[in-house]
Amino acid sequence: MIGEIPYDRYVFMMAQGVDGGGLEHSNSTFLGFPGGYLDSENTIRQLLGLVGHEFFHAWNVKRIRPIELGPFDYSRENYTRSLWVAEGLTVYYDKQIRRRAGYLSPEGFLSELNGELFQYLFQPGHLRQSPEEASFDAWIKSYHTHEETYNTTFSYYASGNLIGAMLDLDIIAATDGEKTLDDVMRLLWTEYYRRQDRGFTPAEFQSACEMVAGRDYDAFFDRYVRGRTELDPAPFLDHAGLRLMRDLTWVSA
Ligand SMILES: [Zn+2]
Repeated sequence: MIGEIPYDRYVFMMAQGVDGGGLEHSNSTFLGFPGGYLDSENTIRQLLGLVGHEFFHAWNVKRIRPIELGPFDYSRENYTRSLWVAEGLTVYYDKQIRRRAGYLSPEGFLSELNGELFQYLFQPGHLRQSPEEASFDAWIKSYHTHEETYNTTFSYYASGNLIGAMLDLDIIAATDGEKTLDDVMRLLWTEYYRRQDRGFTPAEFQSACEMVAGRDYDAFFDRYVRGRTELDPAPFLDHAGLRLMRDLTWVSA
């Protein structure tokens, strides 16, 4: 996918019986999952999602990274507006790599995306915090939830994932299937990680998308990344012959 395997040895450290979640390192990851977790197809799928997510961080985050994320000054916070790329695109790619490795069916892929869209549309906070703002506020808001969190914030993991899907579909359509979001990741890898040995700025991420797609993304980023406009995936899903139905009345049924 990226064209280069950046480690000699990669270690999955797994602990059963602790809360679910993972932490990425350059050449390893630590994964925790609750006891009795592997007793259904659904939880196995969730665990593979976690494995895929943390593993993809060996590329996206540990090497392809926002410019503020390393080298670190550990004495202070490191603010960045690009966690929606670092985490959100990793959520998108944990589905992609499971799909390509044969661990997720096309239907399973769409079903996960559908659930994520559903979560987005239902949580009102998505109109109060842009993906860049959510990224920047991570230090003070993400892990300090309170009674208004649901109404005033929205996770950069979830918004970044949906933006990743929209960009991927748009790049595929704009290039007649010649290019995908993979090409953006490869460009970031080659230019910033390999050639310049540094992270990318928000403007550089946007221009990487523009170079690959051969089109301007200023309005897209103004609306959906820097702004608080509600994501509208319908025209992008249309490129893939998919129709978004926003009739949510069945929820109360
Ligand atoms: Zn992550």
